Amino acid sequence: MSLQHFSHQHPLVFIESQCHEIEKVYCFGCGELVSGSSFGCVECGFYLHKQCAEAPAEMNHPFHRNHNLNLLTRNPYWGGCICDFCGKTCENFVYHCSCKLDFHIKCALFSHSIAEKRNAEFQDIPRIDPSINTGNVTEELKKAECFACWQPLLYSVYFSPNSGFYLHAKCVDLPAEINRHFHQEHPLFLQFNSQRLSCKICKEPQRRGFVYCCSLCKFALHIQCATIPTKINQPFHREHPVLLQAVDECLPCQICQETTNLNDVVYFCSICKFVLHIRCVSSPPIIEDKLDHEHPFTLFPRQFFTFLLLLYLFLYYCSKLIIKLD
Ligand SMILES: [Zn+2]
Ligand SMILES: [Zn+2]
Ligand SMILES: [Zn+2]
Ligand SMILES: [Zn+2]
Ligand SMILES: [Zn+2]
Ligand SMILES: [Zn+2]
Ligand SMILES: [Zn+2]
Ligand SMILES: [Zn+2]
Repeated sequence: MSLQHFSHQHPLVFIESQCHEIEKVYCFGCGELVSGSSFGCVECGFYLHKQCAEAPAEMNHPFHRNHNLNLLTRNPYWGGCICDFCGKTCENFVYHCSCKLDFHIKCALFSHSIAEKRNAEFQDIPRIDPSINTGNVTEELKKAECFACWQPLLYSVYFSPNSGFYLHAKCVDLPAEINRHFHQEHPLFLQFNSQRLSCKICKEPQRRGFVYCCSLCKFALHIQCATIPTKINQPFHREHPVLLQAVDECLPCQICQETTNLNDVVYFCSICKFVLHIRCVSSPPIIEDKLDHEHPFTLFPRQFFTFLLLLYLFLYYCSKLIIKLD
């Protein structure tokens, strides 16, 4: 069995895994030691892992709907090249898109499996629950962030780092597409953030990883920002629904009194023009794995609790006073 690969002038022959046990050889595609079966040109000492040799020259990636990725034999830039999935430098072959998106072969293939929901490919990777496994947590693991959402890895159940990837189990199961009423025109697709868009809710940029976005309108949401409740029950405003939406007016927030910016995504009642900043509504409950939760959550502003506390203290002192007067 032989293969003509675009990266080498001679045909590459198939080599069984045991042939590499005598001398150590490295793969020209990924730079790692060749352990399993491979394709090689023995005269030139040129080897590729079977997976690296069979990686397609052009890839249609569901997480980058705008363009195809092309496999290049070396980094296309003058300076260094960083993988947009794992954040490490690409020294060998790179999957590249002209919109400055780059991936190691294994990172492009693995993220492609996630997108295609080929769960069999990560079913064998052990999952670790950080609330149970509190023992051998290294400093590196404490600092590690998930390649999909860029939240700390130890926030929820994650795949064993021996797989070479830092990923939450929930982040490989995200829906490919969501709809939000504050961007009614188009659905939002789970994509690599190639346009380096800032999140419309928290305004923070995110260099790598996935966002839910509409590339046409340059509208993006972080994965974690896409999960905040779309409707809230407000104790001060029970008459009408208070919905998460983009508001094309500048109005004062009813909690902090600061004026909102044009087209900010805020909690809003359109009938009364009642506005609340998302950040002013006391920390929203964490709703894991429920991207399309439509039921209202009751949220109380901090000032409401302060009011209750003061009322309690006032009544307490009044009762003391009444006892004394008696
Ligand atoms: Zn390789
Ligand atoms: Zn050769
Ligand atoms: Zn990578
Ligand atoms: Zn592109
Ligand atoms: Zn994650
Ligand atoms: Zn955000
Ligand atoms: Zn759009
Ligand atoms: Zn109202």
